Amino acid sequence: MQIYNSLTRKKEEFIPRESGKVSMYTCGPTVYHYAHIGNLRSYIMEDVLEKYLRFTGLDVKRVMNITDVGHLTSDGDTGDDKMLKGAKREHKSVMEIAKFYTDAFFDDCTKLNIKKPDVVVPATSYIDEFIRVITVLMEKGYAYEAGGNIYFDTSKLDQYYVFNDFNEEDLAVGVREGVEEDSNKRNKADFVLWFTKSKFDSQELKWESPWGTGYPGWHIECSCISMKNLGEYLDIHCGGIDNAFPHHTNEIAQSEAYLGHKWCNYWFHVLHLNTNSGKMSKSSGEFLTVSLLEEKGYEPVVYRFFCLQSHYRKSLVFSWENLDNAKTTYNKLIAKIKPLISDNYEPLDKDEYDRLMLLFTSALDNDLNTANAITAIYDVLNSKANNFTKLALFEEFDKVLGLDLIENARKIIESPAEIIPDEVMELVEQRKSARKDKNFALADEIRDKITALGYEVRETRQGTEINKIK
Ligand code: AMP
Ligand code: ZN
Repeated sequence: MQIYNSLTRKKEEFIPRESGKVSMYTCGPTVYHYAHIGNLRSYIMEDVLEKYLRFTGLDVKRVMNITDVGHLTSDGDTGDDKMLKGAKREHKSVMEIAKFYTDAFFDDCTKLNIKKPDVVVPATSYIDEFIRVITVLMEKGYAYEAGGNIYFDTSKLDQYYVFNDFNEEDLAVGVREGVEEDSNKRNKADFVLWFTKSKFDSQELKWESPWGTGYPGWHIECSCISMKNLGEYLDIHCGGIDNAFPHHTNEIAQSEAYLGHKWCNYWFHVLHLNTNSGKMSKSSGEFLTVSLLEEKGYEPVVYRFFCLQSHYRKSLVFSWENLDNAKTTYNKLIAKIKPLISDNYEPLDKDEYDRLMLLFTSALDNDLNTANAITAIYDVLNSKANNFTKLALFEEFDKVLGLDLIENARKIIESPAEIIPDEVMELVEQRKSARKDKNFALADEIRDKITALGYEVRETRQGTEINKIK
């Protein structure tokens, strides 16, 4: 499989260090609020990557942290400690908030068919390990104490800016978000490993350490949790692109200083989900959740389909209209799979199976091109393979895509009232394009035809709704 590696800025053949086995680390959520659908875009694409690696026969071990220690995250909030802010907002303790939003995160993942990583570690359960690694960094001369905090000394490294395609603007953002102005620092890029003094004086959770009562920096979490569970070498590290700098840059700095050798071979970064007004961000408080999509009548799997329609290395613009289009396409696809389901056995058409499977795997082998993998579904539908072979392919594809293709097609069979006939769907599409062309007379004419067929079509803020007239 070819995969784009942010470290080398090239597509490369993915070769795990140990034959047949993959160690994979993912930056987990900061649990002071619900995950927004932007966060979940990253987790969906990482899930597809994990599942595809497994699909190719590799034995993957995936580890994720849960950031339940309050500090700045990549959202650029310069206010309070985020965990405490969440706790105050809801009149709960920090640990209660962490537990609640960790559970909420995994509930969302389940709805989106995102597999839970093999190992999940809350940062607060690893404090001793952070202290141990920071102590080694101090002994090795990579860390220093100043003004009560412990800092990593970036001047001790041959190269600090490893993801070296940053422009001035990116670096300025990084400095603002994660590497705060601080007169104690020896170098501008130095970052905190352990805080005893910070602007978050009201930090609720603090622990004893050789340097005084305090709490760990954010970056040390991921290095320690990864090294402890996956060893000295990591095959692949994932995260949203905003994490590349400073978070991942700092993870590399401290892990390699600690280990004395290269740590992670491949860096997989998912680009952002944006809205028309910019990046979706948790700290702004205005963001979309899976529950909100459900309230508005969208199955979570439709959002997964929407994400898979685009390549992970392109930013994706969310709008209700775009999601609505994904919903229509998804429903049509399921309606096309539905007639293939029967209890009749047919012999597997081996040649067609192999040919079509190759279309699917070639798409994903090419830097996880999920859009082309979806095209392979249509290639199967349009092929001359028998129904049994088609379904066998969909079953395999869905192990990676997680789109409930057959399960949802079966649901339609079981509740025929929900099926919207193709004829109606065609008219709905025609009406949509008439409206787009501002030909409202034609749009009304088409609506009448739809009504005559016993269906009612309505424009809502979330898009087009089609219902059977009762
Ligand atoms: P956080 O909970 O802020 O630590 O973020 C969890 C994950 O979501 C990280 O991998 C982030 O890089 C990623 N992320 C944050 N915002 C977005 C966005 N708008 N689109 C895609 N991924 C994001
Ligand atoms: Zn991380």
